[in-house]
This record gives sequence, structure tokens and C-alpha cells, in this order.
Amino acid sequence: MTFAASFDNSYARLPAAFYTRLDPVPVTAPKLLAYNEKLGGILGLPHASDAERAVIFSGSAVPDGAAPLAQLYAGHQFGSFNPQLGDGRAILLGETVGTDGHRRDIQLKGSGPTPYSRMGDGRAWLGPVLREYVVSEAMHALGIPTTRALAATLTGEDVIRETVLPGAVFTRVAASHLRVGTFQVFAHRGQKAELKQLTDYAIDRHYPDAQTPMDLLGAVCAAQADLIAAWMSVGFIHGVMNTDNCTISGETIDYGPCAFLDDYHADTVFSSIDQTGRYAYSNQPRIVVWNMAQFATSLIQQYDDPAAAIEEATEIVHAMPGQIENGWRRKFGAKIGLATPQPDDSRLIEDLLGLMQADGADFTNTFDALARGAARDQFVDRDAFDAWEETWRARLQTERAPEEVMQTASPRIVPRNHRIEEMITAAVAGDYAPFDRLIAAFSDPFGTADLDLMRPPTKAQRVAATFCG
Ligand code: AMP
Ligand code: MG
Ligand code: MG
Repeated sequence: MTFAASFDNSYARLPAAFYTRLDPVPVTAPKLLAYNEKLGGILGLPHASDAERAVIFSGSAVPDGAAPLAQLYAGHQFGSFNPQLGDGRAILLGETVGTDGHRRDIQLKGSGPTPYSRMGDGRAWLGPVLREYVVSEAMHALGIPTTRALAATLTGEDVIRETVLPGAVFTRVAASHLRVGTFQVFAHRGQKAELKQLTDYAIDRHYPDAQTPMDLLGAVCAAQADLIAAWMSVGFIHGVMNTDNCTISGETIDYGPCAFLDDYHADTVFSSIDQTGRYAYSNQPRIVVWNMAQFATSLIQQYDDPAAAIEEATEIVHAMPGQIENGWRRKFGAKIGLATPQPDDSRLIEDLLGLMQADGADFTNTFDALARGAARDQFVDRDAFDAWEETWRARLQTERAPEEVMQTASPRIVPRNHRIEEMITAAVAGDYAPFDRLIAAFSDPFGTADLDLMRPPTKAQRVAATFCG
């Protein structure tokens, strides 16, 4: 179809071992629900009517220059290795080099079955599509590396989950869709040549300064350490940190049963499939190190004599908890007004979080109130807070502009679970006003335009569990 985007599909130029070429499956009645004009502009996509966009971004016609394919990967799911996963309901249309010079993938999610679908139907339903749209755009506006939302379309077809639901396709944009699992599949199969080729590809695409596979490991560890610190600082719980959902680029990917903290408790879990709390809020820093250890193990398989690489990898992975701790201290230090927090400031941060946990204080609102001199109201045990505040004020003496530091570090609003659920329920009933509202509000989570979204859920509004799509 004529849709004059300048695709340049580097992944499709890799050997066939990396993917299966196939087109998305056309749908019955494509309808455009949302399109991100600004992002489309950066990608260099052409102007088109809603009807044309609905056709392209539902996978009903393949644009000229695209090279559609499903990517192969493996992954550890909740700690157990699955030797073959792959895009079971996604198709990479292709890549463009945007007006900002950055190469990005354009991928359809929910675009029909592929050779990697296993028992799945290859489809997505409206709820998770809109959730990913809102939450990924909110994460971007929060300044956190993430895949982006380009489009959402209805398919006009039913999707069967626990009930019959409206089918939808999400168009995701990513720096790439390379994951730890992409390396794992070739490492596990002993395909050294492919593993080396993938390593070179990842270096070229994301870390051109890296010279060796171990340089790549170091760069990915640094990016992931920063990412996890950033998640923690906004109370984000990914929910499915499997190695196939852990990117090489350092972007957040795969918004399934993700959630934001309301009242602060370190061990919070929302995901209905996370029975043991493996991916609880407080476990995220440990899990990402575990994931990077799997990445290291895969990268090492390409060496003929791995002794030196093993030593180097061990050092890199062992340094990661310290990197995360530093990132965490920087992020949370800023949230209490410290522009350059010192190692012994961690105690001050931890003490505050301890008080918040004891009182069930709201995570976002407490830090927002702290930045505006009204945090005391967030606590039940006011005496305990007063004592902490005294120590804190003493520490702030040497800081220049703590209010400004706090207000840039702590958003006023995050996409709370009950608002997302409310938005999905409305959309299924045909009312897209809540979706539009969230998209508008979360384009500026540090602003004051829609402070009604600050309200924590009432008991009745509380979301008990989140689900995959
Ligand atoms: P996820 O937990 O979303 O990261 O997905 C794990 C694996 O399951 C990936 O290989 C997905 O492509 C696949 N998958 C998830 N949902 C479906 C579906 N509805 N149809 C086919 N494959 C799916
Ligand atoms: Mg995934
Ligand atoms: Mg998923």
C-alpha cells in the first residue's frame, strides 16, 4: 500500500535464523482509536487519513518498504528457561531513521498468529492495548526510557479471554526489540556464529563505543541499572521481569500486569501471575542483576577460550548492585531535595520510606507534599515524621534549591491502577473520554492541569490484581 515511509530494515537484512518473514493478518473492520502525531512526525511517517492509518496499523495492509517479520527469542519466565518463545502475536513492520537521527522499530502487537504463537491466538484485546498506550506514554513523559505508543486500532473482531472482548492492535515503537532472550536462544542452541553476529548488531545499533562482547555487557548493565533506579523512584512495578522482557537498549518494555504504588509498601505485588512475589517492587533491583547474569552467560558462549571473559563478566555483574544503589540514591536523594546525595544520605531516605510503610502513606502524594512543605499531613504518626523532618531540615541547610530539586524529581501524578481500570471499562462500553483525559494529563505529569488524578483509590476503587493481556 502507498504509505510513503522511508523504511530501512536492518534486522530483516540479518540471516533468516533470526526471524520468520511473514505479513500481519488482515482484520475485519479496522478502526483507528488513537494515533501519536508527534511521534509519527519524529519517525518521518507521512500524513494520512484516519482510515488509511487504521488499515496500516491494524496490519490489514503492508506499507511499501516494510519487511514484516516475527522475531525469534527465548527467555527465563519466572526463573525457568523456555528455549523458544518469539513474537507470538507481534510483527516487526520495519525500522525508520527518524528526524532526530535515531533508528527505531515499528511493531504491531496483536497482529495475528505466527510460527511462535504456541497455544496463543496471536491477538490482543482493547484493555491491555489502551493500558500500554497510556502507561508507556506516561513513562516517557516521566523521563524514563521506554518503548512508545504510536497507534491503537480496533479490529472489529472478538477476542476470547475469560469473556468475549473487543480485539485491538497496538503499534509499538522501540529503539529495538533486542532482548536478553534474543541472545539466549542462540547461546542455548550453541549457534556461535549467530551469537557473534547478534552481538555485533547490538553494538552497532546501541553502543557503538563498545569493542567487545564484555563491553556490551557493561553498557547494558549500566543502562538497566539506571532504568531500575528510575522505576523505583516513581513507584513503578513492572510485574513480568522475565529475560524476554528485558531490553538490550535499556528501555522499559512489555506493559502487561504493571502497576504503580499507591500506599507505600516495599513488597507490593499486583500481578495475578506472580504467586511468589518474585517481581515485587522491592525485588526489582535484585531481579535485574539476575537477568544480567543470564545475559552474561549467553554472551560468554561465543568465546572459544572463555576464561578471561568469565572473569570480566563476573566483575561487571557483581558491580551492578552498587550501580543500582548509586542510581537509587541519586533519584531518591533528589526526591528529598538533595542535588548530590552522599552514601550516608541513604539512611535518611530509608528512614522516610520506613515511616511511609508503617503508616501506609501514599507514595506519589507524600513525595509531592514533601516538595511543597506539606508532607506531615500524609502521616498518621506525626511525632515520628516531625523527628525525621528535624534531621532532614538540618541536612538541607547545605543545599541550594531543594524545593526545585524535589519538584523536578517527583511527579504530581502517575497513572494509578484504578484510573487505568476505569478507563478500560469505559472504553469497552464505547466511551473513550477517560482514555483521552489520561493521555492529555500524562503528557505533563509534573504539571498541575489535572490534579484530580492525584487522589488515591477509595477502598472500593482499589485494584486487587493486574492481569496480562
Ligand atoms: P509476555 O509474557 O507478554 O512477554 O509473552 C510471553 C510470550 O508469549 C511471548 O512469546 C509472546 O509472544 C507470547 N504470547 C503472549 N500472548 C500471546 C497470544 N495471545 N498469542 C500468541 N502468543 C502470545
Ligand atoms: Mg514479552
Ligand atoms: Mg506481554
